[in-house]
Amino acid sequence: MAEQRRDPRGERGARGGAQDVPEARGKGVGAEEARAWEELVDAARRTVSDGLVVGTSGNVSVRVGDTVLVTPSGVPYDRLTPDDVTGVGLDGRQVLGTLVPTSELPMHLAVYGSTDARAVVHTHAVHATAVSTLVPELPAIHYMAGALGGSVRVAPYATYGTEELAENMLRALADRSACLLQNHGTIAYGTSLAQAYDRTAQLEWMCRLWLTASSVPGLAPSLLSEDQVNEAGERLRGYGQRG
Ligand code: 13P
Ligand code: ZN
Repeated sequence: MAEQRRDPRGERGARGGAQDVPEARGKGVGAEEARAWEELVDAARRTVSDGLVVGTSGNVSVRVGDTVLVTPSGVPYDRLTPDDVTGVGLDGRQVLGTLVPTSELPMHLAVYGSTDARAVVHTHAVHATAVSTLVPELPAIHYMAGALGGSVRVAPYATYGTEELAENMLRALADRSACLLQNHGTIAYGTSLAQAYDRTAQLEWMCRLWLTASSVPGLAPSLLSEDQVNEAGERLRGYGQRG
């Protein structure tokens, strides 16, 4: 995936209206979008530092109103600046920036089109990807599957960036907030970027747990029933501090 660079443009930074913040130098970028972009770039960089992807693999998006901010295709995340805000409408038309949006736009837009998602994270996390090559569903090894809506399915393989992959993903995501993509990786969404990211990390952790438990010769891990996972899912809705 070749990196695309934008042409330097003199008008950047010239707008400066009440809605703009100093860092929001991309043309037409408002304060909320500029803040969301910073959060998005931070999350994309964390996917690399947390070992969930290597290089420019994976992608992140955040919805601000009817605009979806996305990581540009094939650009190292540590090179992204406030000038690089990249956004598309819900129909995929580019409305912000000049860098080519992620090749996985069909998956991101399919999630926004059929859920209440405000953020989507796609990775090639190694344990999750390994599991995606072994089973059609991650066995219910831990109650945290309840936090993702139940046992995590594997979407059948399709070429990256295609509508076919997006369709397979949507089927695997029914009543779930995350799924695996066969021989490819993970996708998770949430009502915030923090939630989408945490779900991704929990999914990778559960895959690692299952691979670890199932690699003991002569023993097979105990699994939870659907009822047990669902009961934990209900309880997790009230997990943590009140308010
Ligand atoms: P992009 O760099 O186009 O986002 O592609 C990375 C990826 O993970 C494709 O599946
Ligand atoms: Zn990918």
